[in-house]
Amino acid sequence: MDGKNMIKGTGVSPGISIGIAHILKKDDDGLSGIIIQTNEARELEIEKFNQAVVSAIREVETIRLNTSFDLKPEDMDILDTQIEFLGDPQIAEDVHEKIRNHFRSAHDAVIEVIDAAVEMFRNMDDKYLSARAADLRDIGNRILRNLNTGRASFGPDFGENTILIAEDLAPSDTITLDTTRVVGFATRLGGRTSHTAIIAKAKGIPAVVACGSELLNIRIGETVILDGTTGELIINPGSEIMGVYKAKQVNILNEKALLRSLKDLPAVTTDGHRFKLYANISNAAELEQVFENGGEGVGLLRTEMLFMGRDSFPSEEEQFNFYKQVAIKSKNRPVIIRTLDIGGDKQLPYFGIPPENNPFMGYRAIRICLDQQEIFFTQLRAILRASVFGNLKIMFPMISNLSEVKQAKECVNEVKLELKNAGIDFDRSIELGIMIEIPSAALIADILAREVDFFSIGTNDLCQYTLAVDRMNGKVSALYTHFNPGVLRLISYVIEQAHKQNKPVGLCGEMASDPLAALLLMGMGLDEFSMSPRSIPSIKNILVKNSLAKAREVFKTVMEMDDPETIINYLEEVII
Ligand code: PEP
Ligand code: MG
Repeated sequence: MDGKNMIKGTGVSPGISIGIAHILKKDDDGLSGIIIQTNEARELEIEKFNQAVVSAIREVETIRLNTSFDLKPEDMDILDTQIEFLGDPQIAEDVHEKIRNHFRSAHDAVIEVIDAAVEMFRNMDDKYLSARAADLRDIGNRILRNLNTGRASFGPDFGENTILIAEDLAPSDTITLDTTRVVGFATRLGGRTSHTAIIAKAKGIPAVVACGSELLNIRIGETVILDGTTGELIINPGSEIMGVYKAKQVNILNEKALLRSLKDLPAVTTDGHRFKLYANISNAAELEQVFENGGEGVGLLRTEMLFMGRDSFPSEEEQFNFYKQVAIKSKNRPVIIRTLDIGGDKQLPYFGIPPENNPFMGYRAIRICLDQQEIFFTQLRAILRASVFGNLKIMFPMISNLSEVKQAKECVNEVKLELKNAGIDFDRSIELGIMIEIPSAALIADILAREVDFFSIGTNDLCQYTLAVDRMNGKVSALYTHFNPGVLRLISYVIEQAHKQNKPVGLCGEMASDPLAALLLMGMGLDEFSMSPRSIPSIKNILVKNSLAKAREVFKTVMEMDDPETIINYLEEVII
């Protein structure tokens, strides 16, 4: 292949697209280098800046309002982060200071302050925080547009089969742009955790990021092949190469169609063992995706979203309406509602938990609910009242000992009694379960199993606590693997102990969507896999193609192995 026509970046959303390049340009033009001479003029610049911020906040709030029903949690997060940044008093203070004391125009002051802040965030070690630099750049551009033109920019109209080429897609671009005709994204900057990557994956659009400056040589209207798996871009391909990629595209489409065709098949192995395939969701809108992808229920409804992006706790009525909507929309299929799991990485600004040295090991989740019971009681009342509209179950997160389970159950009983006395109907035999995500809970699974109707293993946290590896810290991420034999022994022990007491076990951490782990978990006897809705078809594909007998053999072999590398190599060999 002609090297000049090929650019190599990082593939972050799989699939092959063939389309026409459209170069996305930013329009933050404004006059630079002006010195603002008088005090009055400087105060006017400050007023102009303040107005531009107000308009920018209004714009983001409008986007949020108009799209809140369709938005995924990560999209909602982007908008919330932007509103937070726009309202940040430090940014306003710095811009005012540049205007008052350095006689900058509002335009120049914004550029200088945002550039400095972007630089600071970019240099942070924490991957999540450094990725927030894109949010800052985005709000800077939004303020500039409002300063210069007094209005927001809206996305251009794209032609059919557009491959969008950009420096980096700003978080709100990916929400405001009409991507219905976009078949691929390619950006000069970005990484695996950038917004382009997250949103492209969520939308199922192939994407390549970190292409470098060569990307900017592509001209509008050129034909581009984009391979979101290998990270390759081929510009103006000849007919032979085009033929190869068209064939690859057809293969991928066939594979997808094959997976879709599994949608209505039960998740039964070749030797007749049935597994449950559930989904993890955070809002009612996602339920549609669950059933479209063949999910049979919800193994984890994260309720934190309901408490985030607002300035006070949601009332019992608000919560009731949300749980009722989920119950009705799920048409009697099981929905496991996890009670509030805040703290750690999920803070509520209005709750005001004082900073902690080790927030992941601190005041969080069930610990808060048992300590500040009015929060817990409000949520439990709302769930129990909604329970008559569907098949709801309650699950408590972050359980570390028996006493917490007993106290949580006691709270449920108190609420039940209260509702009964008030003549309010609820599901009297609502099932209660716990998350097993702390090693101590895993090790006393036999004791805890007596108290509850089901377990769900939260491997995201179980790995973090078992391995002493912060799940948010990129520096130690190589140590974070669910294939560490220590983690596998805990999972296996939990399942074995629960089954001795005929209690079912689900798994709702990321491990449930890892194809390499599927056979192993089947062999361990896991009853239910719960994952992001889009991951369901590929896991079902593995379940239906294999036998329980083979999975048990795989499990036995893996449990004799010493380290993650050997285990991963072996699982790669046996997976079909
Ligand atoms: C887990 O810990 O595995 C889990 C599913 O919960 P979260 O990711 O919300 O902590
Ligand atoms: Mg967890």
